[in-house]
Amino acid sequence: MGKYTLTNENNGLPRTVYEKAQIDITSYPGIWKFIDWLPVDNVLNGFDGGCVTYKSSGLSRELGLNNLYIAFNGYWPEINANLNTCSFKDLEAGPTIEMLHEKKEKRILTVASAGNTARAFANACHLSDIPLLLVVPKSSLSKLWIPEETPDDRVFLLCVDGDYSEAIEVSNQICELKEFIPEGGAKNIARRDGMGTVMLDAAFKMKKIPDYYFQAVGSGTGGISAWEASMRLINDGHFGNKLPVLKLAQNVPCAPLFNSVHGGVYSKDCPKGMYDGVLFNRKPPYGIPGGVAEALDATNGTIDGMTNEQAEKASEIFYRTEGVDIMNAAAIAVAALIYNCETGNIKENDTVLLNITGGGEALYKKEKTIKYLKPDMTLKPEDADINEISKKIINKLGASIYA
Ligand SMILES: *Cc1c(COP(=O)(O)O)cnc(C)c1O
Repeated sequence: MGKYTLTNENNGLPRTVYEKAQIDITSYPGIWKFIDWLPVDNVLNGFDGGCVTYKSSGLSRELGLNNLYIAFNGYWPEINANLNTCSFKDLEAGPTIEMLHEKKEKRILTVASAGNTARAFANACHLSDIPLLLVVPKSSLSKLWIPEETPDDRVFLLCVDGDYSEAIEVSNQICELKEFIPEGGAKNIARRDGMGTVMLDAAFKMKKIPDYYFQAVGSGTGGISAWEASMRLINDGHFGNKLPVLKLAQNVPCAPLFNSVHGGVYSKDCPKGMYDGVLFNRKPPYGIPGGVAEALDATNGTIDGMTNEQAEKASEIFYRTEGVDIMNAAAIAVAALIYNCETGNIKENDTVLLNITGGGEALYKKEKTIKYLKPDMTLKPEDADINEISKKIINKLGASIYA
């Protein structure tokens, strides 16, 4: 038997079942500490970051909680947090790139993204010489920075003069060609198990599975990953036998997952006006087997809708009490935690894990040099001639590998 098998393969989200039911922490850096439960055999050299969990003192005092732990995903040297593109999308990029490399994948990895995912993959793909096609809406270009020293010659940036859904549409068409492979989204096991290391890191720090897990969601993949990692931890036997209650949060009124649970519809202007557009996903994996609905059901989880005003206030409180900047998306989770404390849903001795899904971006930009990715091509969705475009992409990224 190999390192893992898959369940759910034909129906819903394929899920890894690792041969090692009990995890051993290795001496590898960052995320690779948890390599027993990642779908790879080796580490990706040059990728050293991981989630850093610490016990809060500032925010916990503010909220009257005795056991608040923060899973910090970003850049913050003071606590040794070193995710280079400052969000937990780095946790999915590293394992995905390594997995494709081990599978000897020769096709061009294709990622449609409105920001953080694109940055994470652009930062990691050169470490294994994986050619990368990014398809992004024009409005996201200002978010596409990577560290100055990261080579970008293996990236083709295709800019779509339209919205995120139109970028996804163009990307889907390109992925029908044999030279391209889609990253896979929620179905990508390396993505979910990479994000699942947030729960693993916390469980080792806390010596148990937390009672509650707070996260801001767009697709909800991070929530599914936390649930899956918790099931593995229960099966391991060293971390208790209680699943954490998932406390997911979205930014109302642009909140499709929130609508799936509580009813209501989002405006057709969305994601315009959102506190953070990365939280808008029109087709989240909600109802499919192993998806968000099942994760909420299994954990007695809830999903709250937070407004821009609540998020703004939460962001200020976090900065004042913990001392580091967080991404707007993460402020939605902080707002949900505050809300649940105010309404008495969370009690002072509950153990709570707050996933700060992105942070330290302002700090990173102050201390390091960055550069912006420039489009190799810009097109209007209606003008997209997929064959012509694909020729240009293959031309830049190296057609010879398909010989
Ligand atoms: C992608 C992202 C999220 C939402 O993650 P999902 O679990 O995929 O819904 C939250 N915060 C940040 C900073 C993100 O980049």
